[in-house]
Amino acid sequence: MSSHTNQNNQDSFYSNIKDILEQTKMDGLFKNERLIATKQGAIVKLNDGTQLINLCANNYLGLSSHPSVIAAAHEALDERGFGLSSVRFICGTQDRHKELEARLAKFLGTEDVILYGSAFDANGGLFETILTEQDAVISDELNHASIIDGIRLSKAKRFRYKNCDMADLEKNLQDADAAGARYKLVFTDGVFSMDGTIAKLGEIRALCDKYNALLGVDDSHATGFVGKTGRGTHELCNLFGKIDIITGTLGKALGGASGGFTAAKKEVVELLRQRSRPYLFSNTLAPTIVGATLAVLDILEGSTQLRDTLESNAKFFRHGLTKLGFNLRPGNHPIIPVMINDAELSQKLSAKLLENGVYAVGFFYPVVPKNLARIRTQLSAAHTEEELTKAIKAFETAGRELGII
Ligand SMILES: *Cc1c(COP(=O)(O)O)cnc(C)c1O
Repeated sequence: MSSHTNQNNQDSFYSNIKDILEQTKMDGLFKNERLIATKQGAIVKLNDGTQLINLCANNYLGLSSHPSVIAAAHEALDERGFGLSSVRFICGTQDRHKELEARLAKFLGTEDVILYGSAFDANGGLFETILTEQDAVISDELNHASIIDGIRLSKAKRFRYKNCDMADLEKNLQDADAAGARYKLVFTDGVFSMDGTIAKLGEIRALCDKYNALLGVDDSHATGFVGKTGRGTHELCNLFGKIDIITGTLGKALGGASGGFTAAKKEVVELLRQRSRPYLFSNTLAPTIVGATLAVLDILEGSTQLRDTLESNAKFFRHGLTKLGFNLRPGNHPIIPVMINDAELSQKLSAKLLENGVYAVGFFYPVVPKNLARIRTQLSAAHTEEELTKAIKAFETAGRELGII
């Protein structure tokens, strides 16, 4: 091939990418990023000075900028440095990484924990390490992208059941048996993030026991605040100590920086340390994150005040919007979707809310099913009643202007 042809081919590659971006914009699916010029919190300021009540962070407990968490990160920076410049097994394990793994295991009620750079990595490195082509994984259809990708990387037989549909889960367990699966692993999000729906772990555990399957839960939207002492959906469902594998994130309620983990029996964690690729081939968690997360656990084990405040904030907000006539997805989770059901109208409402000092994002197809467009609000323990009253007022103003209520 002449160099001229190669050049044309390379040009074609770049123009193809531009076409894809153009099409994404025309489809209304292009994601723009808003520039925030403050710490994460109940109130944030944009770089143009606009001040907004933030209803779209995963900052459930308000720990992203909590003074004790920031102080612990500073202390860790001074005592243990900025980075380790190594993966865990070469020279990237400090005393505090082991301390955090032990503390998280105790908090979650499992034998051991292994840290990852993210929950995405925890899920990405899980399935191929513990399952082979002889085995089966049975996954909820609405599971997080990282679970889907993790399952794709494994050679296990794949089964998918309808969201929270126990009859369909049972049918899939039977199908996995019929396919001759040696071990079966049922895997679900503890909380489904678009709806705030909590998985029916009691019923899922009972089916797993009936069909001799293991149960794994990704509790990224629960660890730290769901359940009476904030241990997660397993605590809420009276299954503390009865989940085989829990994956989760440090990037939401537990401080919101980054990092993830897998919690399980000792031998499972040990095998992950030996074979899980994102653990073996990606850098260790930074000392600031480790130190700050230890401080987060001190706070959460010392008192249930933050998760209690979050619970009452969510109730207050739900009640306020319901009274105004908004149609909410039912539930108790601090994810509170305001159903608009029309993609364009949800975008208009989001824009009007922004004009009225409230930051809340619209979600529509393909992120959620067609005709189920919504504004997803997320409450935080950091919100004050005054801020929430203002936010409810903004929903009232915007909702009336657009004829939604
Ligand atoms: C947010 C989330 C993740 C990803 O967490 P990171 O630590 O940011 O990679 C994984 N699973 C679920 C269910 C999540 O909600």
